[in-house]
Amino acid sequence: MPTAIEFFKLLPKTNCKECGQPTCLAFAMLLSNQKATIDLCPHVASDAKETLEEASAPPVRTVKVGDKDLGGETVLYRHERRFVNPTAYALTASDTLSSDALKERVDYIASLRYDRVGMMFEADMVCLRNNSGDAGTFASKAAELAGIWSKGIVLETRDPAAAEAAATAIKGRRPLIYGADASNLDAMIGAAKAAGCPLGLVCADEKDAVALTERCAAAGFKDLVLDLGASNLKETLERQTVARRAAVRSRFKPLGYPLMNRVGSGEYAVATAVVSTLKYGSLVVFDDLKSYEALPLFTLRQNIYTDPQVPIQVKQDLYPIGDPDEHSPIMFTTNFSLTYFTVRADIEKSKIPVWLQIVNTEGLSVLTAYSAGKFEPERVAEAFEESGVLSKSDGPVIIPGLVTRMSGKLQEIIGRKVIVGTNDSRDIPKHLRSVTGQ
Ligand code: SF4
Repeated sequence: MPTAIEFFKLLPKTNCKECGQPTCLAFAMLLSNQKATIDLCPHVASDAKETLEEASAPPVRTVKVGDKDLGGETVLYRHERRFVNPTAYALTASDTLSSDALKERVDYIASLRYDRVGMMFEADMVCLRNNSGDAGTFASKAAELAGIWSKGIVLETRDPAAAEAAATAIKGRRPLIYGADASNLDAMIGAAKAAGCPLGLVCADEKDAVALTERCAAAGFKDLVLDLGASNLKETLERQTVARRAAVRSRFKPLGYPLMNRVGSGEYAVATAVVSTLKYGSLVVFDDLKSYEALPLFTLRQNIYTDPQVPIQVKQDLYPIGDPDEHSPIMFTTNFSLTYFTVRADIEKSKIPVWLQIVNTEGLSVLTAYSAGKFEPERVAEAFEESGVLSKSDGPVIIPGLVTRMSGKLQEIIGRKVIVGTNDSRDIPKHLRSVTGQ
């Protein structure tokens, strides 16, 4: 990635501020940190624009499939910045299925959906496989699939005519055509260009991938996703690591594309998907995936693609737990999601309805937030004011035991008696029973 000064040299240097930055140098710094894109400056000369676009593009190209971006990655290790676009998981469906069977299959894929710590985990795509070998059947089944599945679609076929017919039938959905190799590449590029959609290359290995992507680039086609042909865990790890290293460290463009692999089904498939999720896979296609396999895999993905520099937070808000009324206790804590879910679970265990006020502490836990001056009586009182909780209930206000020292000040500001709560969340049920006499 060029430095800020190298970007600055290509900018107009008029400091007109139209990009939202006070100076061209400030904008150049954002470009070099990949926090802005060149299109925000309307005054760049067209020749410089091309150079700047090329220089500021992520080393792994971003490729859109349906409404989901694949790739766009900029680093080798997530702690260097963060990984950008989470691995997508697809499950296959055959074009030989009857309408009822296809609906049943799609319903099953859609059922792989879990609400976990306030986030929705789900399968992302359906991969329609051209088992019929017939272009017309493939196209009509693709259209049928598009009618009952609103997310991403992969069209798996080695037949350019079937690829073009199916992709054109669902053109607006921007499916991924998957199945181009050395033998059919030119025709597959033609099909992808005609339908305006990306192309998945089935490569024998990294060297073959370089040869194929260079042919695509020569044909002016770069919306590619690469299957590096790995057939086991070791090859998946090695090949995908080699490709990402070459793209990020050496800015080697022929391997700077999102990576995908087909893993089949069963334990080994899940293990391969785990490796692919950890090491640079953007799309994993399963023949099948059970619910008990999907949840831990989706959880892993969430962990890998969480921004390590930003604590996971919940929204500042008033959360009624149980069915609290005008006499229910009012508790409050920080918006660090782990704190919120732990406290919430312990309140639920008590079976006593509570108004739980979450205070925005920028994702810090109770003591850290207090030490950093982000969990102070004034801030808590503001949160109470915003939610109106004090007018919803005349019940006791319970302060977390770890910040007892701010109870006097809080009591003074809100004009209500404050009861000292527990240091440890697990003692909440016992404490609530003693406070309410239940
Ligand atoms: S819009 Fe362009 S010319 Fe104006 S300040 Fe930003 S970078 Fe400089």
